[in-house]
Amino acid sequence: MDFNFEPEEEAFRQEVRAFIDANLPPAKMRQDPKSIAAWNAKLAEQRWIGFSWPRQEGGGGGTLVQQFILKEEMANAKAPPLGSDFMGLAWVGPALIRHGSEEQKRRFLPELLAGKSLWCTGYSEPDIGSDLASLQTRADREGDEYVVNGQKIWTTLAHLASWIFMMVRTTAESESRYGGITCLLIPMDSAGIEVQPIPSLMGVHSFNQVFFENVRVPVANRLGAEGEGWKVVMGALANERSGISEATGMERHLEDLKELARRSTRGGRPATSDSAVRQEIGRYEARISAMRLNGIRNLSKQLQGQPPSTETSVNKYLRGALEIPMSNLAMSLLGSESQESGKWQIQSLAFHGVVIGGGTPNIQRNIIGERILGLPKD
Ligand SMILES: Cc1cc2nc3c(=O)[nH]c(=O)nc-3n(C[C@H](O)[C@H](O)[C@H](O)COP(=O)(O)OP(=O)(O)OC[C@H]3O[C@@H](n4cnc5c(N)ncnc54)[C@H](O)[C@@H]3O)c2cc1C
Repeated sequence: MDFNFEPEEEAFRQEVRAFIDANLPPAKMRQDPKSIAAWNAKLAEQRWIGFSWPRQEGGGGGTLVQQFILKEEMANAKAPPLGSDFMGLAWVGPALIRHGSEEQKRRFLPELLAGKSLWCTGYSEPDIGSDLASLQTRADREGDEYVVNGQKIWTTLAHLASWIFMMVRTTAESESRYGGITCLLIPMDSAGIEVQPIPSLMGVHSFNQVFFENVRVPVANRLGAEGEGWKVVMGALANERSGISEATGMERHLEDLKELARRSTRGGRPATSDSAVRQEIGRYEARISAMRLNGIRNLSKQLQGQPPSTETSVNKYLRGALEIPMSNLAMSLLGSESQESGKWQIQSLAFHGVVIGGGTPNIQRNIIGERILGLPKD
């Protein structure tokens, strides 16, 4: 396998670096909404938001390798995300490109790319998270409309979103488990939708419960055929889990962890002279390298025309297996300072959620065991 990039790909990397040098807001401004809006406007001029989407869909027409390089360089520079609508760009847009009608693409993609819409995702329901195919929210057809009744939970950003990418049941589970699921695109200001906040462990409002009572949704807002929502959601989840360039983000976290180890002490000596700390950091380094290589392996498959699939679970799993131990080590290095507020203190709480969102580690293990390694079902 050749890991080297082509000269024109290296030239693109230099172009991205020059752009970052010229335009990236200073670190202390990277949370400021105005700086982020200005940054996104510059990215949009470059067509780097939705960069690998086809040009005819409003994307940048970049290759997957260029997209990889772009994300890698952005992560290296600790730049804000590419575009403001994380869920819209990461999985709703790709699902629209793959399954949407021409009319749906014209209607949704331009405003998504321009950051004029914000998407949330309606999969989980009370008591139904991992076993998504058991979802119970119903959509009953009445003429040109579906009438939706039910409840979603853990719906990130539902209180701010303009649209929900939503999985509903159009046929009873007893009749068709996977074939009874349909994907609907529902405006969040529809009559009959009620959003209630769920405060997080960190006191942040990100999660919600969303109630649907006789919500009327035009059939034109169905993505894919009726009963084919499972196919749509599997592709969307593979995109959610893919994170090809996430290894670079993890490398930056590891650098911060090493820096913390250098300025911390254990038993009056530098923490970096403690062999247990060094071994732990070495283990993280090896896992992050494995993540990067696995990301490149997935990328190679996509370059051969295969969409992201079950293999994306490997990096999702590896990332989860790194984040919590890394933040635990950081907290132990911080000692009594761990009670104060700071990056690692926040991440040690936030990582638990990140690990669960998009499918828990057990679920990733099941996918890897059963669908990649061909082991018997549990
Ligand atoms: C940060 C974050 C953001 C989220 N955002 C959204 C969102 O925007 N939209 C949305 O719809 N959902 C969202 N979720 C919900 C998320 O998808 C679910 O929490 C997740 O799928 C797990 O489902 P659950 O919470 O019902 O846990 P459960 O499915 O009840 O799992 C509980 C435990 O049982 C284990 N388990 C379950 N089934 C099996 C099995 N077959 N084999 C082995 N172990 C198993 C799990 O690994 C876990 O440890 C979010 C969650 C988090 C934490």
